[in-house]
This record gives sequence, structure tokens and C-alpha cells, in this order.
Amino acid sequence: MRDDGRLQCLACAHRCTLRPDDVGLCGVRQRRGDALYAPFGYVAAQRIRPIETNTVYHVRPGASALILGMYGCDLRCPYCHNWQVSQALREGLTPAPTHVSAAALAEAAVAAGCGAVCAAYNEPMIAAEWLYAVFEAAHARGLTTGVVSDGNTTPEALRFLRPVTDFYRIDLKGFTEAQYATLGGRLAPVLEAIPTARALGYWVEVVTLVVPHFNDDLRGLRALAAQLVAVDPAIPWHLNAFQPRYRWRDRPPQAAGLLVSAAGAAYAKGLRYVYVGNLADRVTQLAHTRCPACQHVVVERHDYHARAVTLRDGCCPACATPIPGVWSASALAA
Ligand code: SF4
Repeated sequence: MRDDGRLQCLACAHRCTLRPDDVGLCGVRQRRGDALYAPFGYVAAQRIRPIETNTVYHVRPGASALILGMYGCDLRCPYCHNWQVSQALREGLTPAPTHVSAAALAEAAVAAGCGAVCAAYNEPMIAAEWLYAVFEAAHARGLTTGVVSDGNTTPEALRFLRPVTDFYRIDLKGFTEAQYATLGGRLAPVLEAIPTARALGYWVEVVTLVVPHFNDDLRGLRALAAQLVAVDPAIPWHLNAFQPRYRWRDRPPQAAGLLVSAAGAAYAKGLRYVYVGNLADRVTQLAHTRCPACQHVVVERHDYHARAVTLRDGCCPACATPIPGVWSASALAA
């Protein structure tokens, strides 16, 4: 509680200051009396998919993941892939939550043979308390856990979740404040979240969806690569191609050429693991993980599936160079 009587929420970088009965910008966290109410004990969607479908490539490749999502989001991206849940409240859709316990989700993941539980589809951090419970139950069953986030978060929220969370995948959606204003956020907190998460010990991967007439600028993408290199050259960076959807259905799909050029520029800047995705059967060679020392393919992928994993104890089988990632349950390797 602040001196002015407002209650501040720390779950995302908006840091809403709430008067009694106020609802935060995300539309789901709200003040009742002196208490902050947050979503708990439900999912809006739940699926079993290969972990790679989260665009996470250095975490237990080939494992299945139970992926859960909830309602609401702190941003309002006009190209959101999962807008039926993330933007459901703003769009006036009727939520249809499925009530479930954390233990039941962990049990469902184990029963389905999963190696991981991931939170995605909306911005998971706006339900950080519920995530903590789910991931704690998942860890107790030996599962790897991770968040697919827009990165518009706070050091407090990252610290809170870290004891039960192995990886943090961040969408870095642009390189200017003007771009982020279009999405309802700010660039600075997202850029700050990357080194903060890394310093806290999360395994971090970054995704940039390249969108025509929005962020399809090679100079800007180069600048992002330089910022990632400055944090850690071993952070994987995924350049994904926009496909028309939601409010930006009228834009063309992103062409492959710019993504390939941006990937080359990122390697030239010093990043060691750069991927290009969302292009169906094109540019398939940039979906694999290669040893940065000898270029041996250590994880071969096709269409967000791992087809062959030849890592040996987290190292390249050809030259023994360590390849960083979370290669086993709840353990950071290399
Ligand atoms: S999660 Fe973010 S948007 Fe929602 S109430 Fe908290 S600070 Fe505001």
C-alpha cells in the first residue's frame, strides 16, 4: 500500500496504482478493500504440444509440454495469435474458464508423458501467484517449467517466480518506443527484463516477430542483436515471420529475405544461436541448432518438431563444445 492510499500491483511493468474497486490495465487483477485479487485455479486453454511450438529451442528438445493459458493481457498487440483468450475481455467475448487445481495440471502433464509445463497464450505474469502454484506442483513431479512472456514485467515478479521456474521466453516486439506504444507498452522494461532474468538464473530465449510496415527494418533488428550480444551472446534469438491475423489480417506475410539478412547480421554481431521460423517449408536450415565451434547440427528441427538430438551431456558430439540450455529436468546445463 502506498502513502496515498493506492495499492500498487507489481506483476507487470505498468505498475498500476489501484483505488478501491479499481481493475488494472490487464483487466483481470483488481483491488477489493485493501486486498489485491488475482486470477487463480483455472485455465482458458490447455494443450499438449512439442515444447518447440513455444519457440523455445534450448529446453529439453523433443519433449512434450503441457501448455496452459489464461484470460487477459497487459498488452494489446493487434496481431496477437491468441487474441481469443488474451484479448477476450477487451473484445467482449464471454470467458469460459475451466477450473482446475495445480496438482491436477501437473498430474495431467505426467500422465501425457510431458517433460515440461509452460504458460503461454496470454501474458502469464499477470497471474503470477497461480503460476507459482502450478509450477511448484510441476517441479515436484520432475517437470521443467517456463513462461512465454511479453517481457513487460518487473524485477519483483521475476524474483518471485524464479524458485519454481526454469526458463523465461521473452517476446521482444520492436526497437522503438513508438512501436511499443502501438502495443500498449514500453520498450525499456522489456529490454531490462532480459538481463534481469538472465542474472536471476532463468534460461532465457528471445523471439522477435517481424511484421511488415511495423518493425521490418534491418537497422533496427541489427540494433536489437547488438543489445542481446551485450547481455549474453549465448541467448538464442528467434526471428519469426508475421502471418496475417486478428486486427492486422490485411497486412502481407513477412517475406523470408529480411529474416535471413537479419539472422546473418545477428551472427556477425556475435550472437551464437539465431533461428528463423514461421516460414513453413522455407529457410529450414535456420531451424537447427548448430555447434558454434564446428557447425555440427546438434538438434535438427522441422516445423517446430525436434527430429534428431545428438547432444552428449549438453555438449557437441563432434567437438565436445558445451551448448548452453536446459537439457534435463529442472537443471541448467553449461
Ligand atoms: S498485472 Fe500489470 S496491468 Fe494488471 S494490475 Fe498488475 S500492473 Fe496493472
